Amino acid sequence: MQLIIDNHKHRYEIENIARMFFHDHKFKVDFDVDPSEKNYIISGIRKDNLAYAVVNIDRRANYVQDEIPKNATDDELEWLLCTLMYKALCNVSGKTQPWGMLTGVRPTRLVHRMLDSGESIENIRNKFINDYKINDEKFRLLYQSASCEREIIKSSNENDFSLYISIPFCPSRCNYCSFVSQSVEKMDELIAPYIQKLIQEIKDAAKIVNKLNLNLKTVYIGGGTPTTLSANELLKLMSAVKENFNLNSVIEYTVEAGRADTITKEKLEVIKSLGADRISINPQTFNDDVLARIGRKHTAQQVLDAYKMANEVGFKCINMDLIAGLEGDSVDSFMSSLQTAISLEPQNITVHTLTVKRAADLSENFEEVFKKGENSVDTMVSACPQTLALSGYHPYYMYRQKGTLSNLENVGYSKEGFDGYYNVFIMDEIHSIIALGAGGVTKLVHPKTKEIKRIYNYKFPIEYIRDFENIINRKQEVIEFYEK
Ligand code: SF4
Repeated sequence: MQLIIDNHKHRYEIENIARMFFHDHKFKVDFDVDPSEKNYIISGIRKDNLAYAVVNIDRRANYVQDEIPKNATDDELEWLLCTLMYKALCNVSGKTQPWGMLTGVRPTRLVHRMLDSGESIENIRNKFINDYKINDEKFRLLYQSASCEREIIKSSNENDFSLYISIPFCPSRCNYCSFVSQSVEKMDELIAPYIQKLIQEIKDAAKIVNKLNLNLKTVYIGGGTPTTLSANELLKLMSAVKENFNLNSVIEYTVEAGRADTITKEKLEVIKSLGADRISINPQTFNDDVLARIGRKHTAQQVLDAYKMANEVGFKCINMDLIAGLEGDSVDSFMSSLQTAISLEPQNITVHTLTVKRAADLSENFEEVFKKGENSVDTMVSACPQTLALSGYHPYYMYRQKGTLSNLENVGYSKEGFDGYYNVFIMDEIHSIIALGAGGVTKLVHPKTKEIKRIYNYKFPIEYIRDFENIINRKQEVIEFYEK
């Protein structure tokens, strides 16, 4: 499909709007019509001061235009071009988007900005529904999430930071995975040297934050699947965290124990004894056929057993992740998974919508996955807020990603008093996140200027181990950033 940009520079935004409607089409961006191309989209400005959009797909066509206001700013022009494109795409496809014209990954930020500038809820609602064209259901979800986020944001003080530790290993690879995680079957021999280097990085990072007098607010050990490590490896790693950082100020310490086939009572006891109070046990679905299809080598019963074990060990907060739109899942099966999760009464349930990225095995069948998934995923995701509310869960944070079925959202739901702080801190860039390990991206937020700087660790464990000196050297930039 050809995307033609006629006489303006807002290609990126127009392409994003078009992609919401046609995930499965490859766009060829041009500045002139290619007569051999039957399907095309044009966004342009005419000489007589009219902005216009043309959509011509599969013999359905629509043309819309509007006058460009006198002295329009760049932003106003971009808005007009996007609005016209959205309108023409809705007309041709016969459908609207649940999130309207919003393409960004953090829509709650727009709400925060409006609340900060004193806008009333009516004005905010009008803006989202009439201008951005999101539907009523999504606005309720958005506003509720943003309101919870604001309470969490307020709790962060000037010198606070959070710590992220990456364990990029998993027992096997899920077919939708786009992370750098390595299957343990292939990477077993890397674990011991990886942990050794990681402990060194923990020691170095602790020296830096102590020198800067930073205050540790939350800790998150994620990945990958941290519980791929043995109990002894977890003991070494988490002891290093405890010995080097001051955990007295920590309000939440999470360890992702994502895959049930990696969880043992011994590991859970180690995790709890070294200070973690929140773990994530992620079924994704309670349907065994779907689990097998997505490449997870455990059953739903193993998740139930792991959950029972975690409750016996006594974690304060347990999160469970579910995914809507998995290959082979149906609305009934998804709703049954949701009900099973609810019946266990975890403090958090996070509902993701399937996202297919280029690095995932699934991406080879990209078009098929999208077509099949999009038929049912709207119903699955729409049922969540109300179903969960009836069991005492509220949405406390949300975000969107590119490449998600039906352009839907990911939402963290929580029981009263159990909102996950780290998730909000990282999503809303509230304070610095110091990230350690392979694939870790440190995101520094300057306490005074709010300037943001990223420091990247190597992606793969093998590079991380080999070029470790560079990682340590780069971390010195944290000091320069804060002392600026
Ligand atoms: S558990 Fe998560 S990180 Fe590991 S392979 Fe599956 S999706 Fe990827």
